[in-house]
Amino acid sequence: MASFTSFTSGSKGNSAIYIKDNTRILIDAGTNTKYISGCLRELGLRPADLTHIVLTHAHSDHVSALPVLLKHTDAQLVCTETTWDLLPAKKGDPLLFEAGDRFALGDVAVRTAETPHDCLGSCCYGFGEGKENLAYCTDMGTVTAEVFELMRRSKTLFIESNHDVDMLKEGPYPYFLKQRVLSNKGHLSNRDCAQIIPRLVLEGVERIMLGHLSETNNLPHIAMRENSNALLMFGLPQETLIGAAAAKEMQATIQL
Ligand SMILES: [Zn+2]
Ligand SMILES: [Zn+2]
Repeated sequence: MASFTSFTSGSKGNSAIYIKDNTRILIDAGTNTKYISGCLRELGLRPADLTHIVLTHAHSDHVSALPVLLKHTDAQLVCTETTWDLLPAKKGDPLLFEAGDRFALGDVAVRTAETPHDCLGSCCYGFGEGKENLAYCTDMGTVTAEVFELMRRSKTLFIESNHDVDMLKEGPYPYFLKQRVLSNKGHLSNRDCAQIIPRLVLEGVERIMLGHLSETNNLPHIAMRENSNALLMFGLPQETLIGAAAAKEMQATIQL
């Protein structure tokens, strides 16, 4: 029996956990150790109980807790070699890989795929097999064939729906940052996400949670509406979309 819980998701901090039996994998370590420890406590865990810390990339909203967190855990760091070089804190014997590699963490099979993002070494992950397969895919400007293939195999998908294009264009971000977010190495918009999820549901994905919503350039109800309408247009069940993970708000645990 495996489970997934999003601790926090958004432009300011990302962290979640995938648990299968005694393998407890923290996915990204954004925000800070106090916050992550509080979420772990809700699950009856401490940082020392983590077996692995898996990182998608080295942007600070994914690694800012590491310098302190690593003082409280001997969990093995798992990331691409490039991400390792960019980390603000390191410890122990990491498991380093190239995006696209497959490996196992405890008894959890892991797949990876490179994500096109403005941080070298970025990747996304698929954890577990069959109904326990969760794909965790955020921080990408576009969905490549490799990322699509990884997501297609999942039963539960955590996917970025970062911004509403109009809110971003009319919003307060400086021009260069708007261009960065909109580029093929930036983030998936609600529209991008809505274009891809019907195809994934047709491929067999059963549950979708939206993630990495921008606090400045998006609103949960807008992201949910755009993605939900896309499913409706294809005659697909809107209940497939189970919610949008929020910043600094631990979500209900999903039993996989
Ligand atoms: Zn990023
Ligand atoms: Zn990010």
